[in-house]
Amino acid sequence: MAIPDPIVEGLASGWKHIDASQLSQDQTLEADVVIVGSGAGGGVAAEILTDAGLTVIIVEGGPLKSSESFNMEERRAYPNLYHQAAAMKTQDKAIGIFQGRAVGGSTTVNWTTSIRTPRPTLDFWAKDKSVKGLSRQDLDPWFDKMEKRLNISKWEYEPNRNNQALKLGCEKLGWDYTVIKRNVKGCWNTGYCGMGCPINAKQSMLVTTIPAALDKGATLVSRAKVIKLEHHNDKISAIEAQALNEQMQPTEFKLIFKAKHYIIAAGAIHTPTILLRSNLADPHQLLGKRTFLHPTLLSGAIFSDSINGHSGAPQSIYSDEFVWKHGTASGDLGYKLEVPPIHPVLIASKTIGYGKTHASLMDQFNQLQVTIALIRDGFHEQSQGGQVQLTDTGFAIDYPLNEAFWRSVRRSFGSMAELQFAAGAKQVLPITEGAPYFNSWKEAKSAMETLDLGPLKTVVVSAHVMGGCPMGENTKLSMVDSQGNSHYYENLSVMDGSVFPTSLGANPQLTIYAMTARNATLLAERLKSSS
Ligand SMILES: Cc1cc2nc3c(=O)[nH]c(=O)nc-3n(C[C@H](O)[C@H](O)[C@H](O)COP(=O)(O)OP(=O)(O)OC[C@H]3O[C@@H](n4cnc5c(N)ncnc54)[C@H](O)[C@@H]3O)c2cc1C
Repeated sequence: MAIPDPIVEGLASGWKHIDASQLSQDQTLEADVVIVGSGAGGGVAAEILTDAGLTVIIVEGGPLKSSESFNMEERRAYPNLYHQAAAMKTQDKAIGIFQGRAVGGSTTVNWTTSIRTPRPTLDFWAKDKSVKGLSRQDLDPWFDKMEKRLNISKWEYEPNRNNQALKLGCEKLGWDYTVIKRNVKGCWNTGYCGMGCPINAKQSMLVTTIPAALDKGATLVSRAKVIKLEHHNDKISAIEAQALNEQMQPTEFKLIFKAKHYIIAAGAIHTPTILLRSNLADPHQLLGKRTFLHPTLLSGAIFSDSINGHSGAPQSIYSDEFVWKHGTASGDLGYKLEVPPIHPVLIASKTIGYGKTHASLMDQFNQLQVTIALIRDGFHEQSQGGQVQLTDTGFAIDYPLNEAFWRSVRRSFGSMAELQFAAGAKQVLPITEGAPYFNSWKEAKSAMETLDLGPLKTVVVSAHVMGGCPMGENTKLSMVDSQGNSHYYENLSVMDGSVFPTSLGANPQLTIYAMTARNATLLAERLKSSS
């Protein structure tokens, strides 16, 4: 039976879609609202504003792909669906960063873990970051709404062996663990979420909010890279974009978008980049600073039986045992324990060694379990995150890794090794250059203190970018207010992960969905009452 493809069906039904690679002249388009980016923030905003009867244009730099064109081979999926073919790195190359670049943004390729914003994070934002009206009580109705809209519910099947090891280790050690809620409907448990869901079960923006907005008359412009915002006094007057060809290179054609209101939702790296390039008012020099990544460490473990971590829902169990143990701002930086999907290119490029040592690790690919520790950054005074800056050729992300960070890395490698041995691992390998395979927790424990850690030695990755355009009421701390509206431009809002004042200590998509749902609903009311 053929798998229904909502994109193919929608296009056939007459959706307004402009693929900018096909343009043969410059274009000017107008609407009530123009939204830049079609990911977690852009998608939700598009549906809500269109539903409210406003005309909407969604401008996306990436291509419009769908299950018909997804390719489950990593060598094709990453260049097609990720920024920099999934090989983006910080300036010193010490952290690898995954970001989606296609209609649906990172939600098209993400791993479906859906977690409400932790209370300690919201409390910290209220107390230290001047954020108003965003307690869990305020947000819970929006979580309820978005969980219903995106079919988010607890994964009711057996975790795959990769996740089972996390669960078993926690059970043996008496550590906290939780069964993950996922945004899926009719999931086949294939494990290929990162290559674009081949059966449209993942309730990404590509198959939910964007089609709903297009059904109601919104316009989607894909392969159009927004360059800058034109502004005059305290108003944005237009957005300028560059058409890209099928190879994602600029063509000679430009697009100009005009609207009553502009929403930037290009994600936590590109929203600050666009705003910096536009020379917007930023009296306290906040734009692009305090970029957070949940810098993530990997620990490999070899089991006697097959793990097959490429197969089955990638994430279905997490442990918060160590996230808040030392409080919010003081003490060592906490970390969340999860597992990633284990596909050959992903893992081969994120492990260490070369030649025979790497080949022997990859030989045991099917017995390899991987646990990850996501470090909660941005709360402690020695955790200021990174900085997105403009360069002659585009942008760079500087993210210094300091002593406070490495202390947490060392502790997290210890926790992961203890967990993996408790789950029955034969051997554990912290993914840091020069670390040996450990044969027991006792052996690993005594070696942890002297493990040689450092940038470019220790593998650090991130699929969560946050911050760079923070929200709050105090203009010394924030660029937008607690509802995402610019402090300086009356017709500009930001609705994506860039508004977080710190990282979350939890996977970000559901927080972005809920906050955007609230902010877009308030904006729609405001725009309608003023028209
Ligand atoms: C591999 C992977 C796995 C993940 N797994 C999970 C998970 O399991 N659970 C979870 O909660 N989170 C997960 N995340 C993170 C989550 O998907 C993101 O936090 C979320 O999608 C961010 O939403 P956003 O709106 O800020 O940005 P995005 O969803 O990234 O959307 C931004 C969009 O803007 C576009 N854009 C950027 N610059 C421009 C420009 N100049 N012009 C036009 N368009 C532009 C981009 O191409 C992109 O489509 C994962 C991310 C990745 C990459």
